[in-house]
Amino acid sequence: MIYPWHLSTWQIIQRAKQAGRLPHALLLSGEQGCGHEAFMATLEHSLLCSTPTAEGFACGHCRSCEVYQADAHPDSLWIKPAEDKTTISIDSVRELGRFLTLSISYSPVRVALISPAEGLNVNAANSLLKALEEPTPNTHLLLLSYQPGSLLPTIRSRCQHLRLPLPSTEMALAWLETQTLTHEPSALLSQALGRPLYAVTLDQGEQVTQQQVFMTQLAQVLNGQGSLPTFANSWQKYSRHEILDWLYVILQQHLKAHYGAGEPLNHPLSVWLSSCSSKQLWQLMQHWQALKPLADHPINQHIFIENMVAQWQLVKL
Ligand SMILES: [Zn+2]
Repeated sequence: MIYPWHLSTWQIIQRAKQAGRLPHALLLSGEQGCGHEAFMATLEHSLLCSTPTAEGFACGHCRSCEVYQADAHPDSLWIKPAEDKTTISIDSVRELGRFLTLSISYSPVRVALISPAEGLNVNAANSLLKALEEPTPNTHLLLLSYQPGSLLPTIRSRCQHLRLPLPSTEMALAWLETQTLTHEPSALLSQALGRPLYAVTLDQGEQVTQQQVFMTQLAQVLNGQGSLPTFANSWQKYSRHEILDWLYVILQQHLKAHYGAGEPLNHPLSVWLSSCSSKQLWQLMQHWQALKPLADHPINQHIFIENMVAQWQLVKL
């Protein structure tokens, strides 16, 4: 099944499928922590099923579904980073080349998933271009990206792009109410910046506190009420990916709100960010993009943090 916030996208895809217009390559994008991987898997399963339901879901009992549920479907290929890695190697994409030459075994089509697509290194991305430029019959390539802007333009232009929406607060809260949680759902959702699956993860770990503390302290530094050297010491324990992820989501939220597409969520940096002009918000997003390559760079964590804070302070000078 799919999450309620995926229903409209599901229906768009099903209508395209029924009309015989489902693209060879589909790029789905959205924010992490919203269950988009599960949506991709449900879509893949439905495409592989021989007798899908009227709503387009896999039947669960045909031969193809049996093999899929046993996690042994020869017409399915997942391309993702190896364990403990963030990038997808060219060897994985070469495996796709071999997969595309095999005959189809149980399903009406073969399906390859690539997630996250921004994990493709340059060589892997160039290798994928060949598969995108010369579509194999009865084949669907499904790409999932959390940063579609960082993909090669040639990859983006060869895929049909569908943006998976962030759920409305009302929808996300209604879903969270059905989960067994320790913390209060609306507080969790606020700290997860509107991402319901991330809210559940926060409920189970210490991140909820860490993120809140980080944002509160950053707000204090930006308002001239806190000492950066002291806070920077305590921020050593956060991974750069975590910090960048927290900042990206709030920046994106405020940019959207600035253009009238939704309300910014309530968090410790709300007041500071709400007083930024659209130009200043875009500058912060540009700084974020410049910092992103440094996430895995061997520079000192102090330098990374001081650089980040200096850029945020400069924006309002
Ligand atoms: Zn089936």
